[in-house]
Amino acid sequence: MPYAPPRPDPTLPPLRVNLFSDTQTKPTAAMRAAMLEAEVGDEQRGEDPTITLLCERMAALLGKEAAMFLPSGTMCNEIAILTHCRPGDAVLAHETAHILTAEGGAPAALAGVQVVGLPGKLGQFSPETLREALTPHSRYALSQRLLVSEQTSNLGGGSVWPLAELDAVADIAHAHGMATHMDGARLMNAVVAAGISPRDMAAGYDSVWLDFTKGLGAPLGAVMAGSAAFIDAAWRWKQRLGGALRQGGMCAAACLHALDHHVERLADDHENALALARGLAQIPGLGVELPQTNLVFFDTAGLGLEAEALSSRLRRETGVLISAMGRFRARACLHLDVSRADVDLALAAIRQVIATTERN
Ligand SMILES: *Cc1c(COP(=O)(O)O)cnc(C)c1O
Repeated sequence: MPYAPPRPDPTLPPLRVNLFSDTQTKPTAAMRAAMLEAEVGDEQRGEDPTITLLCERMAALLGKEAAMFLPSGTMCNEIAILTHCRPGDAVLAHETAHILTAEGGAPAALAGVQVVGLPGKLGQFSPETLREALTPHSRYALSQRLLVSEQTSNLGGGSVWPLAELDAVADIAHAHGMATHMDGARLMNAVVAAGISPRDMAAGYDSVWLDFTKGLGAPLGAVMAGSAAFIDAAWRWKQRLGGALRQGGMCAAACLHALDHHVERLADDHENALALARGLAQIPGLGVELPQTNLVFFDTAGLGLEAEALSSRLRRETGVLISAMGRFRARACLHLDVSRADVDLALAAIRQVIATTERN
């Protein structure tokens, strides 16, 4: 498999419903207008007023002293690891965590840390599991330096960590002398689903970030918050990795627009996810996980059909796009560009493709 993205296949029919990822949204006309009108300057000199405003707003929203604008969520995670840890340190995270499964080995390649995966249902590990994983401070053991929680958990099915568990694992980590980091790629989905403020969700965490390209509709950008000292130290890594920007305010304007217009509507995505899951659950042979937010995972093993095969047939025969997340595990993401009518269309397409699949 090549590393570079594939070229679009011209033999495919037009895309009708894109459930591949909540990153696939296109900026709305109003968002584009806000971007065009943004006041800008040189971010590296602290002179981009729109980025400054976004960071101030995000620091307040997340209940932290300071914040930093970065191009992507991956860069937030990696800069957090680089800032909290030294080479040889251990990072504890769920075994399905994005830092462990989807960042190209960056924690090892860039920070020289060892990520230790913890087991647990729904992408969450319990306080007991964390306690059992802790080792005494000794020159033989790993230096356990950082705990990472993912809210919501992506491969855990878009599940929402209950606040008490988030706080409990953070307290245990702190008592062990570790720092805590929240991968809040979809934090706002958790906030809207649980009705708990971002500040409360993140209170136990020394660093936390939010992705503006996951369901919030911005073309790029993520904001990471923490103490003033943490953000100051993180700037060194932002500069080193080439994440220090110039007139990035055009992109920050999209994020501000998303905060004002695209947060409350996440509830619509959650409703659409439930509607899709209910419809899928009626198809014999499909095992459907009950969605808590905007991600719908389902199991195709009962059909004798691999997720990748279902996804490519769906795309080619109906123009509906989903993703394969495991041999028999498929994912459909609800987002800004998917309406309830699209959900019905996707359901009909999935039924049709499955009905014409020969069982083996
Ligand atoms: C998408 C995602 C990331 C990475 O974000 P990018 O902006 O795509 O780099 C990190 N963590 C989780 C849980 C994600 O879903």
